[in-house]
Amino acid sequence: MSARFIFITGGVVSSLGKGLASASLGALLQAQGYRVRLRKLDPYLNVDPGTMNPIQHGEVFVTDDGAETDLDLGHYERFTGVNARRSDSVTTGQIYSTLLTKERRGDYLGGTVQVIPHVTDLIKEFILKDTEQEDFVLCEIGGTVGDIEGLPFLEAIRQLGYELGRERVMYVHLTLVPYIAAAKELKTKPTQHSVKELRSIGIQPDILLCRADREIPLSERRKIALFCNIREEAVIQALDVGSIYEVPKRYSEQGFDRQVLKSFGIADKHGTPDLSKWDEILSRIQNPKGEVTVAIVGKYTGIGDAYKSLSEAIDHAGIANQLRVHVRWVDAAGFEKEDVAKTLADVDAILVPGGFGERGVNGKLAAITYARENNKPYLGICFGMQLAVIEFARNVLGIKDAASTEFGPYTDKNGKGPLVGLMTEWLRGNMLETRRQDGDLGGTMRLGAYDCEIAKGSLAEEAYSSGHISERHRHRYEVNIQYREEFAEKGLVFSGMSPGGQLPEIVEMKKHPWFIGVQFHPELKSRPFAPHPLFAAFIKAAHKGKSSQKKKAA
Ligand code: GLN
Repeated sequence: MSARFIFITGGVVSSLGKGLASASLGALLQAQGYRVRLRKLDPYLNVDPGTMNPIQHGEVFVTDDGAETDLDLGHYERFTGVNARRSDSVTTGQIYSTLLTKERRGDYLGGTVQVIPHVTDLIKEFILKDTEQEDFVLCEIGGTVGDIEGLPFLEAIRQLGYELGRERVMYVHLTLVPYIAAAKELKTKPTQHSVKELRSIGIQPDILLCRADREIPLSERRKIALFCNIREEAVIQALDVGSIYEVPKRYSEQGFDRQVLKSFGIADKHGTPDLSKWDEILSRIQNPKGEVTVAIVGKYTGIGDAYKSLSEAIDHAGIANQLRVHVRWVDAAGFEKEDVAKTLADVDAILVPGGFGERGVNGKLAAITYARENNKPYLGICFGMQLAVIEFARNVLGIKDAASTEFGPYTDKNGKGPLVGLMTEWLRGNMLETRRQDGDLGGTMRLGAYDCEIAKGSLAEEAYSSGHISERHRHRYEVNIQYREEFAEKGLVFSGMSPGGQLPEIVEMKKHPWFIGVQFHPELKSRPFAPHPLFAAFIKAAHKGKSSQKKKAA
């Protein structure tokens, strides 16, 4: 049987959680025993989501195969455990870029190149590619129905419905049913309008997922069903929940997965989905045995989505240790003038996440000094690792001008080059990868999964329970290994290296309860049902530090 396609669109307003809804449906179909793959189609014109500002667009999610994608792919991975690929995300910009290359090459033989059929054909090609192994392919269309830029995508999925037929295509539409306080009523009109808009494009949704902050009375669901031409049982309420990991269960209770199968005419083949692993997660979230507070000192601390995978990975570590983890977001830029001890004395651990550019560097360095001197568990991710090395060089080795070429200036009195500098070539397996220093901004990074060898007896080996790991990267600069001996003498060791020994991947501090910096992004691989070992060990260390402090005080 070829794959079936489920298209998920959104209406009324943005930010209704289409990504989470898609990811949850994926998890539910998986729990029914099916193979699923999730894809995201983004209508914006950027060719490369990697160069988009996290303040506007949230974090950049990196796949194993080195694609920089939308953060929704992170939700897909966390909910289904299926690793996303480059071919699971596309933007209008990428479609046009392909189209224009083809046109320049003469592929269209001088014919008129148009949105329909040429753009829509490329969109359909993207949706259908590499789907032979899947039972269900869920495609989320970014944006909101009614947006001008989303039209070619909607036209393409309409055509697919026509071409593949009802047995292989269905449409889920996510809307909002707002509560109007003055009238004390939930309002269905925006949903009716949104479906009308979708139908004017030729798409009749099979299932409506209605977000609401309270129970939608049956009478209102009936009204929606009647006016939107949808079966009553297929009007599903999606109520607000405490934890995002509750969503699959709540959707299933509302019959979402059953209605999807019914739309395809395969309703009763499988019984209730096996949701035991979700139950286990929820029970650990809801019954914490203690709590810890972690300070995250970064640049985009006001914007939750900018560190999405990071905050999820911390929650997963809480699940692993059955602890409630509170995060104190500390703005590194504002922090420079503040009293460091005042902000960090009562936290149980400190984390400096990935980052780019000079702004906030001094605040991050101050936080690292504080963690090092006060025995606070520290996890430095990517920039947070590079800065930990710089902090150590400046304050312990006495190399006062230690810096990264990213924010220099560096005088290189030692003649060993900058402490953190640009690499123009490195190995990926047996292949030499090269970068030009003056290349396009979007194409200069070490991206995707790389192997790493971990030193025996190290803290990192203890955390991973393994000596060989593979983690995802996204950075331009590397730590210079020429200073290795000096570091080791004073107690900072490179405990993880790339297989050829060329690139430092992990550093850790001896004579400190728990201090690790990693050049990669472990948060990208953490899952609620497979918490990342480094985060789990970090939160465990935070809790241990807290308990021993309590004992001391008593
Ligand atoms: N700015 C640093 C680099 O490019 C770190 C990047 C990151 O933290 N992701 O190497």
